[in-house]
Amino acid sequence: MNQKIFQKALQIISMRRIKAKTENEQHYQEINSKIPEIAEINYQLAQTSARILMGEDIEILKRQNLQAQRYCSQLLENHGYPPDYLDMHYTCPKCQDTGYQGNTYCSCLEKLIASLGTAEMTQQTQLKLCNFDQFNLEYYQGRTTDDGRNCYTLMSNILQRCRYYAANFHAHSPSLLFFGDVGVGKTHLSLSIVTEVLKQGYEVIYDSIGNLISRIEQEHFSREKSQEDTLQILLNTDFLILDDLGTEFQTQFNLSVIYTIINTRINRNLPTIISTNLNWKQLSDQYEERIMSRLFAVYESLEFRGPDIRLAKKRNSQYL
Ligand SMILES: [Zn+2]
Repeated sequence: MNQKIFQKALQIISMRRIKAKTENEQHYQEINSKIPEIAEINYQLAQTSARILMGEDIEILKRQNLQAQRYCSQLLENHGYPPDYLDMHYTCPKCQDTGYQGNTYCSCLEKLIASLGTAEMTQQTQLKLCNFDQFNLEYYQGRTTDDGRNCYTLMSNILQRCRYYAANFHAHSPSLLFFGDVGVGKTHLSLSIVTEVLKQGYEVIYDSIGNLISRIEQEHFSREKSQEDTLQILLNTDFLILDDLGTEFQTQFNLSVIYTIINTRINRNLPTIISTNLNWKQLSDQYEERIMSRLFAVYESLEFRGPDIRLAKKRNSQYL
């Protein structure tokens, strides 16, 4: 992920932190002027560390402070305020809008990077998002596959399945594997699903496996380890679409990244769509057993089939 997106995400998070702090200050000002009794208690609470330094018993002070805080909440309620009106209200209570939990990125930062990344990716690739209505089934009318099945029926079933999937998408939707030659509609239907899922407010990452892996590789072997976040984003994003499995370089590093992505997302029960131009046999030849067994056991396969091109070619060649 590029440094610009990372910086922008951190900037947004720090704005959230500033907003939380500012609001909190305003609440204090308001309450101090309206309920002087609370102002007095808050003043006493603020003296705690000084009193500890003066040698007062910490346990007793703690108990007194807790009582004072409860009393404050009660007073707030009596005056028609929510009892936590003077607490800090962070957008992300987990990291208190810092973006970090200890040494690791908080999920809010990862999500932000992912959504900014998607927005930028979409811009960069000029990705025209498709919709289901533009999917033209007429193309398949009267055609048969190489094993004699009706293309129209096959593809209208797939279209129906994809529409249903998109309309009923949820955080733990099943993962899908799209098989099929180039040009049989895999990209069109995955982008139509993406369009629907984005409308529902989920974060989506869509890219070819080759692009993503080269970015991960770059980050992995660069010296600046702080940049190493693409893999984390892919492991955590709400919805991941990996295009063109099988077109990437077959190295041990790449295989292990692919396994990590597939396996981790399965373990986290996060939906993924993988598309490939290879058939099941070719995939098995190319990928190790641990990848294939995960795909086979967990992914729902959709086989996109167009008219038999070889047959058409053969027929044509008879007239040449
Ligand atoms: Zn956070």
